[in-house]
Amino acid sequence: MSDYISLLTELRIAYAVRSPQSAAWNERAQRVLVDGGSHTLRLIQPFPPRIAAAHGAWVTDEDGHAILDFWQGHLANILGHNPDIVTAALSSALAEGGGLQTGFTERYQVEAAELLCARTGAERVRFTTSGTLATMYAILLARAFTGRNVVLKVGGGWHGAQPWALKGVGFHREEGYQHIETAGLPSALGEGVVVTRFNDPQMLHDHFRQYGDRLACFIVEPFMGAGGFMPATGDYLRAARDLTAYYGAVLIFDEVIAGFRFRAGDTGALYGIRPDLATFGKIIGGGMPVAAVAGRADILNLASRSGRVKFSGGTYSGHPASMLAAKVMLRYLVEHEADIYPRLVVLGDRIRHILEDAFIAEGIYARCTGWGNEALPGSSVFMVHFPYREDQPLNAPDDVFDPRVCDVALNGDVLQLALLLEDVHMTHGHGAASTAHTDTDMVFLETACRKVARRLREARG
Ligand code: PMP
Repeated sequence: MSDYISLLTELRIAYAVRSPQSAAWNERAQRVLVDGGSHTLRLIQPFPPRIAAAHGAWVTDEDGHAILDFWQGHLANILGHNPDIVTAALSSALAEGGGLQTGFTERYQVEAAELLCARTGAERVRFTTSGTLATMYAILLARAFTGRNVVLKVGGGWHGAQPWALKGVGFHREEGYQHIETAGLPSALGEGVVVTRFNDPQMLHDHFRQYGDRLACFIVEPFMGAGGFMPATGDYLRAARDLTAYYGAVLIFDEVIAGFRFRAGDTGALYGIRPDLATFGKIIGGGMPVAAVAGRADILNLASRSGRVKFSGGTYSGHPASMLAAKVMLRYLVEHEADIYPRLVVLGDRIRHILEDAFIAEGIYARCTGWGNEALPGSSVFMVHFPYREDQPLNAPDDVFDPRVCDVALNGDVLQLALLLEDVHMTHGHGAASTAHTDTDMVFLETACRKVARRLREARG
């Protein structure tokens, strides 16, 4: 494993020199905000570019740099930043005296729910404001429905910062994925969450044999997001469906990243598998804070007035402007499905090739995840890895986040900062194309990647 300390110092100095305005804003931010902000992934070191405007594939920072962006609002902006269809709808709603919270309810929410149910096979949906809350409520529903306590999740799976999801997210050399990620949890919670391995049907069988009659639910992403951008195999999801049905546990597909990313609907359908509950977020909000729990009416109705699950409330849940954005976005994706998704697959493939080729040309072995499989036709998302062995399988989080397997320091801060100096942004080697990314943008990316790869090769000597 290489040591990038002197390269990182060099990159940080060059970055600070070119971004005095962002540096000044960061100084102010540090005085009043924890670490200068509210979301760790946005707080790039030594300081983040402070964004002044964003449109399509590009953002502009306070220092006037135009940056080609593949982070796209935490991967939510499938049509690029501030797409006209959403901003126009919001502008006219605001001009007509609507949009902000009223504390009543309006028609947008009904239209968004109708679209979501029609495109995912869900019988009922309830909206909330973040993917974190959606997965928390889905687990509350599952625990109440089954009368059981234990939650089974996948090592490396990120479902937001809520109590049952804060175990086994980051890879730890000694413990693998058994780590409790936060202080402050009730002490019993550690035993209430069992962590299994992604794409390992044998281990899943073993975990169900061991904990089956105590399991409330198995929560899993059909396409793993932050855990490495890997599709589940069909065998794995079929095992998940069969085992949850056999043992009477609720199957939750967390589609906060996957939903409406591969088609204008849920991803489970591409595998021919319907979960009991699914969670959605990101894309469905069209850039506004919208998330949803969708699925079986008999489970979701536990949140009804006569039910026992307190999945209600939320001053800003079902917010009018958010619901309008959701409705407009969902309708657009449904109407343009045949154009949007094949285009995203082409762009995703192209980006993965650009990244791999740029590094391999400099003698740095690189492989991307984000490719499709037998169920998924391909994807807009990518994550570049630097495995030490060329035959390394990349099917589960520990294949890509174990520092003994991949050079995880290289696709972290080093790559992010080196690319930013070339006016390209991705987060720790991962990102997504949007429909706003053009062929010219791909050429821009290629030039940047080649320069960065050369710089890294020279630094490694
Ligand atoms: N589930 C998954 C799969 C996610 O990727 C995320 C966020 N990246 C969440 C849940 C949490 O969503 P949010 O950030 O909207 O709370």
